[in-house]
Amino acid sequence: MTEPTTLPPFSGDDPTCPKCSYTEAYTHYRAAGEPRPGELMIRGRGRPERLERCCQRCDFIWDEALNTPQEQRS
Ligand SMILES: [Zn+2]
Repeated sequence: MTEPTTLPPFSGDDPTCPKCSYTEAYTHYRAAGEPRPGELMIRGRGRPERLERCCQRCDFIWDEALNTPQEQRS
């Protein structure tokens, strides 16, 4: 079993597309193992839970880490 790939942090509402430098992208939640559109589901070898970004200009898709609320320490 391989280590899950570390995802880059969530880049917020103004990401920069790595391919065309456009600064707006859609965000889609993907559960662990859920493939990208058009990818085959491979049981046990899927992608981690993540936020999938899709460039609004060129449709390039890349993955970012979840942006969960920080836990309060008391
Ligand atoms: Zn783009």
